[in-house]
Amino acid sequence: MKVGLYPGSFDPITYGHIDIVERALKLFDKLHVLISVNPHKNNLFTKEERIEMVEQALEPYRDSLEIGASETLTVMHAKQLGATHIVRGLRALTDFEYEFQMTHANRELDDAIDSVFFMTANKYSFLSSNAVKEIARFGGNLSTFVPPFIVERLEAKYR
Ligand code: ADP
Repeated sequence: MKVGLYPGSFDPITYGHIDIVERALKLFDKLHVLISVNPHKNNLFTKEERIEMVEQALEPYRDSLEIGASETLTVMHAKQLGATHIVRGLRALTDFEYEFQMTHANRELDDAIDSVFFMTANKYSFLSSNAVKEIARFGGNLSTFVPPFIVERLEAKYR
């Protein structure tokens, strides 16, 4: 059974993340989606809120997914879960630089765990959680970026 691990902040989960999950599930039998808990990152949503939103957004794929949180190094978590690959998404060139560094650092830590990258549908290639939060702050239309229940959660935060 091929097992992958998709880590991220998911602050909040967007259609871009969901698109990556759909693509990864064509390659992996099981995908662990892990919400990264990093006290140095200034997240809008708490760990519990992010987990809850990811669970709700990914409900249709529930049979092939395990959702949780991670407070440790991704490679260590991957090993514990029996995942062979870390799944990440690529948008523009700016993602490449960061992902390049992370992949090489992860290989130094554990060469047995590799990383695979998916590109989203073109329509999501400029979509990020940060952009979504920025639009929400100014009351813009988010209907093509995140599921309706997340629009409500964002509106509640900025109300
Ligand atoms: P992190 O803080 O770990 O980068 P994010 O939640 O911002 O967490 O992103 C998690 C992963 O999902 C990253 O690999 C990111 O590049 C990818 N991702 C997020 N949004 C998109 C998108 N619209 N298209 C492709 N990949 C995306």
